Amino acid sequence: MPEQLPKRYDPQTIEARRQAAWRARDAFRTPELTEGQPRKYIKPSAPFTSGNIHIGHVRSYSIGDAYARFTRARGDAVLFSFGFDAFGLPAELGAIASGESPSDWVSRCASHMQGQLERLGFSFDWSRSFLSSDALMYRWSQWLFLMLLDAGLVYQGTGTVDWCETCQTTLATIQVEDGLCWRCHNPVQLIQQTQWYLRISSYVPENDARLEELERSGIWDESSLASQRFVLGRLDGVELDLRAPDGVALTVFTPHADALGEARFIAISPRHPDVEHWVADPAVIEQLEELRSGGLERDLRDAEQIPLIDTGRTLPSPATGEPLPVLISPVVDGRFGATAVLGIPAHDRTDALIAGRLGLQVDNPDEDRDMDVNEDENKGEPPIEDRSSGIGQRPAVRYRANDFSISRQRSWGTPIPIVYCEQCGAVPVPQEQLPVLLPLDLKPTGLGNPLAEREDFVQTVCPGCGGPARRETDTLDCHFDALWLWVPACVPASERERPLEEIFALEDLRQWLPSERLVAGSDSGNFVFDQRIVSKALRDIGPLAFLADGEPFAGCLFHEMVIRDGRKMSKHLGNVVDPDELLAKYGADTVRLATLYAARPQRSLNWSDSAVLRCHRFLAQVWEFSLRALDATPAGDPGEPAKDTTEHLRLKLSTWCAAAVERTTEEMESLEMHSAVRDVMRLFDRLKDFEKRVLARQDALSPADREALIEALGVLIQMLGPFAPHLSEELWIAFGHEADTQTPWPGVSSLTPV
Ligand SMILES: [Zn+2]
Ligand SMILES: [Zn+2]
Repeated sequence: MPEQLPKRYDPQTIEARRQAAWRARDAFRTPELTEGQPRKYIKPSAPFTSGNIHIGHVRSYSIGDAYARFTRARGDAVLFSFGFDAFGLPAELGAIASGESPSDWVSRCASHMQGQLERLGFSFDWSRSFLSSDALMYRWSQWLFLMLLDAGLVYQGTGTVDWCETCQTTLATIQVEDGLCWRCHNPVQLIQQTQWYLRISSYVPENDARLEELERSGIWDESSLASQRFVLGRLDGVELDLRAPDGVALTVFTPHADALGEARFIAISPRHPDVEHWVADPAVIEQLEELRSGGLERDLRDAEQIPLIDTGRTLPSPATGEPLPVLISPVVDGRFGATAVLGIPAHDRTDALIAGRLGLQVDNPDEDRDMDVNEDENKGEPPIEDRSSGIGQRPAVRYRANDFSISRQRSWGTPIPIVYCEQCGAVPVPQEQLPVLLPLDLKPTGLGNPLAEREDFVQTVCPGCGGPARRETDTLDCHFDALWLWVPACVPASERERPLEEIFALEDLRQWLPSERLVAGSDSGNFVFDQRIVSKALRDIGPLAFLADGEPFAGCLFHEMVIRDGRKMSKHLGNVVDPDELLAKYGADTVRLATLYAARPQRSLNWSDSAVLRCHRFLAQVWEFSLRALDATPAGDPGEPAKDTTEHLRLKLSTWCAAAVERTTEEMESLEMHSAVRDVMRLFDRLKDFEKRVLARQDALSPADREALIEALGVLIQMLGPFAPHLSEELWIAFGHEADTQTPWPGVSSLTPV
């Protein structure tokens, strides 16, 4: 027992000592699973290997780590680890800027970031962490690509991309500045490009249907549920079948069931399965081909400029029988998916803009209506729906969530396991030939796609006919890697080299999945939505058949970001908070506690130094108060009982402790760390108050008073463990407890070290 603890709070010394002890006893290794022990796989977000940990990471991981430590302290088996999201444009740009290969750049960044995270004392199992750019890991992307291709969920299509003729390369949106290339400042062109797409539409309705279950579970917070609803973009309305005079039928949807009489046109998505029935004129066919190459992206397009094709044909209005022009436009995709809709300008601002472009007569367009579906209070005229009931309208649902492109014309990504053969066309690389290796010595400069210039990579043999073939030189977008990034932490490092079918059959992996809680930033909605889609696909294909509901996360917490002076932090604004500086000045416990204390996870954390100072003062006081209480010699002779005048105070103290434990436990279970921290601080005030009141009655604490105070301090220290783990463990040891095991949560009698 270290009797020689310094009386003044010295976080640097304490934290170095605790971290060395954790390393020595491998404290956060994922335990072997034992029968009957509750298990929780807590999934933190996968950071980009951006070079440095920023204060937003500190916030995110402080929440997840507090939860991980809390559940361990209650005796649960915990898996807490993550992989670095190491492919993609930011890494490529970082490597270009520093003149090294992306693979060197990301491994340097990852080890620096790991060092920073270890210095912060986060309890990750580092033996299970990985980089998505390791060949052993990106074969997961290739395997998944082949699985989804085989199931018809990956397909090839055409899309438009930004292209720089000078640099001979496609550009990401962020590389186009005011229509100019970021690198050479020449104008950017839009070109058509063959792309690989992920078909999500078949699983979108299930993602929708499962939302109710997720909500009922009580462990999906409001913000994460809202993000799933937003990405889904569900619209409720009606559909009805319209028939042209020549007999061609079309099912049209509208969210405005009460306004069928005000329909002025019909719009069909260029991806609608029956769209061909509406184009006969060669000029229209040509326009459609052109448009199809541009309309497949997920983002909502601007209604004032989006292409419209007039098919020259009409369908009768469902209410009045008047002929309505039939248009083809990708504006439908961005709002309703690959369907056909009624254009009702009087109720919808986008429809009004389109009607205006077509020069259609619109009575009384109501600007305020926009996309409101059910508000109907101030309509002057009686609804005309009676006339439409005859043509069989029925309730229907449409979704905004759409297929999206997964390939990029860049070198720093997972090679797509496809070869092109003159005889056989596009041929998938057989599973047993994976991984298709990415050359590690690529050095992108921003010019061209260096992978396409590597003949040693490109030249290959066709797996179909054995003839000469060329490899696909597009790589997978890192969004595709994210589709599986939540799984490999469940695989011990020693099992990582197995074939993937064997990995998915591992008993351990099956026990850890689904993840009990995802803790991630509120901008992760799209990632989570697509992970939920693909886990359902893998359930039906087989590898995740043991997840009956196809949900990767049983629970989910989305937190907001850290801002300063009400604005997003950026180097440009000079308002960035540097975690390294804070660490050097105050230590990890203070920085972590401050990010939890300052705001609810669901609110933006507006950074202030006063929260840091407040938390630092609090920890210093806990430290000094605890050591003083330990040292204090109680007054009186235990053999000769004095008159007990403080019993009621001791009783009150123990009631306060019990209430604080109960409340804090509930808050920790629901990841309300902000309230939990405040309750622990309040308990400390009670402890100080107890001492003050006792000393107002007698010169010193009696043995019973001291015992009560020490016991209460023990409870406080236990509850501080998830937030300020270094200080908490150091004091726990000073109070005479074992150091070689996890500090238990109050009320948990013993934790057997595994
Ligand atoms: Zn350029
Ligand atoms: Zn071939």
